[in-house]
Amino acid sequence: MSTGRSEFVYELQVCRWAELGWPPDGETPAFLIARQLGTKQRRWDTVVVETTSEALAARRQFGDRELDSDLLHIVRHAPAEWTFYRDVLPEPGYPWRYVREAIHRADDRGIVDTRRDGNRIQIRRIAPFPDWVDRLIAVENKPDLDASAARQLADQLQHDVEAGLADEVWVATERTGRRVEPALLESLPVEAGILTTDFEGGVDVASAAVEWYPTRLSAVEEADDRHPRRLELAERAYGRGWRNYDRTMRPDCRYFELRRAGRALLPWCAAKGRHQSSLVCGSGCDDFEPEPPAWRTRGWPIEGGPGKGISRLLADRAERWNRE
Ligand code: SF4
Repeated sequence: MSTGRSEFVYELQVCRWAELGWPPDGETPAFLIARQLGTKQRRWDTVVVETTSEALAARRQFGDRELDSDLLHIVRHAPAEWTFYRDVLPEPGYPWRYVREAIHRADDRGIVDTRRDGNRIQIRRIAPFPDWVDRLIAVENKPDLDASAARQLADQLQHDVEAGLADEVWVATERTGRRVEPALLESLPVEAGILTTDFEGGVDVASAAVEWYPTRLSAVEEADDRHPRRLELAERAYGRGWRNYDRTMRPDCRYFELRRAGRALLPWCAAKGRHQSSLVCGSGCDDFEPEPPAWRTRGWPIEGGPGKGISRLLADRAERWNRE
């Protein structure tokens, strides 16, 4: 393992590899990568949402931000013709006043048309909302998969297999180079795929290889109650991606840098001399120093700050990749 690398940095490397190398076998027309998404019970390190270019283009008509469950309730059922909202939206299972609030939010975001007919609010769709999620894939990142980590992981993966929320579950772990990779010998559920990675020379399309193929988990197909939850997860992936870590770190610190590692840019702390995790790079960091105000008046160097330049660079990269 490279010096001082945290599981957080490993997660970023896996996300970047997935961006370059997904799927590990064959091709998929379009996909999105996100990190740290899940349900109340379970959070996945890396999530891949497979879709198609057409479905993604149809989804983009509804903007770049994610749609929460209340907004989804509206855009998925909004009609082609003006209709009183209560005549067209399914019973929400919560008070209608929340639906009205969500309609106003949807209107503000331009994702539904509204008008008043006396006291009544009528709605009309701006476009049919696409069924844009083909497959949802969860990747658990465990660079050091020792026996105790494997035992813990086995329980979590078993839960994933039983919940069937993802279509496939993978474990990514660091390649050891032994004849039989230890991950294969640990008692992981056979349904989970295993990827081994080697990021020593930086991240590239060839930095990960399949050791074991997963079983497709979704025995129960689309018409079940997983659908709304899967769509909500996919929406979060769509809106957040995996590069938004600058929001929970301190790119405004004078020591915060982005360093190139192959085809990845990774956060680097010049004070600590290593890749910092999101846990240490926060308001409690003893080495934090704000960037000197004079930096803000110069041209912004890509390596080294100021923080706003770094955040903008990350957002630009996410945007560019999403548009490719
Ligand atoms: S000194 Fe602390 S706050 Fe600044 S970049 Fe390093 S870890 Fe982050």
